[in-house]
Amino acid sequence: MTHRPVLTHTRAELADALSRLPGTKALVMTMGALHSGHLQLVREARELADHVIVTIFVNPTQFAPGEDYDAYPRTLDADMDALETVGADLVWAPAPQDVYPTPATVSIDPGPIARVLEGKTRPTHFAGVALVCTKVVNLVRPDVALYGQKDAQQLAVLRTVFSQLDIPVRVHPVPIVRAEDGVALSSRNQYLSDEERIRARALNRALRRGAEVAEAGAQGADIVSECRSVIEAEGGIDLDYIALVDAGTFEILAGTESVPVGEGAAAPTILSDGSREGRLLIAAKVGTTRLIDNMEVPLRGASTPAGLAERAGDLA
Ligand code: AMP
Repeated sequence: MTHRPVLTHTRAELADALSRLPGTKALVMTMGALHSGHLQLVREARELADHVIVTIFVNPTQFAPGEDYDAYPRTLDADMDALETVGADLVWAPAPQDVYPTPATVSIDPGPIARVLEGKTRPTHFAGVALVCTKVVNLVRPDVALYGQKDAQQLAVLRTVFSQLDIPVRVHPVPIVRAEDGVALSSRNQYLSDEERIRARALNRALRRGAEVAEAGAQGADIVSECRSVIEAEGGIDLDYIALVDAGTFEILAGTESVPVGEGAAAPTILSDGSREGRLLIAAKVGTTRLIDNMEVPLRGASTPAGLAERAGDLA
């Protein structure tokens, strides 16, 4: 049976409501305008802890001037209705001054992982994400925090930050939820016109093409170029990047410059046939809307990095 979550705004309200929740806690952080992707995080959270806390906050420090901070959809009433259907216990929907009672003069630099791909296009983005996620985890003190694979680099950044700053929270990734037409659900999809929405389907098709050739044994650069060819054939899509990374460490394997990964990222994932698991990432603008998406791809016959063989043995 579900019930309406308790809605809090100030820090004092949050602390009071948390004190009434004995047992383990799972945290789902969102910017609101909730869709089934967010709700899937809440459903999984229910399985992992006694209580689920959802935050709804459009965090100003992760938006650069000229990005869509002001335009970002804010739909708290509808969000509360949606959360009631999946059984969240507590919602924290703070105002900016509740999260930042004094302007933040401290910043968190997540290191090299935050300077490539999304971090290259949005240079201040991951510092803002790291800051707000660290603050909220410190305020809520959850046992586990859930983040979607939709934002795969964010997940890798947060794993690195939480690990290196010894923040005692378990990170639980949740697979991407897609619409029937294959487009990854995103609050920003509502910016797309009908025509742009149809064009946006090419991102998923391109990733599937990459996964298909990877499955058949293609190597890094070929996987990326097959993926790119689908985007180019569609036309009208302003590609930012396509890159292949190690699914666990986020080490860049093809598509853009390489980067050392931070200590604390997850270990490489080795599939049952001994091949390494990759993640193919894409970012592009369709009209004025910037979309990101990604997909797991097996790296059959990929060159095995030094030390990985023993590690694969360990994991088998
Ligand atoms: P956002 O509100 O966009 O900041 O997203 C909040 C959380 O929901 C993040 O951990 C996202 O990765 C996750 N999320 C957003 N869209 C999806 C999706 N389509 N599938 C799975 N998780 C998602």
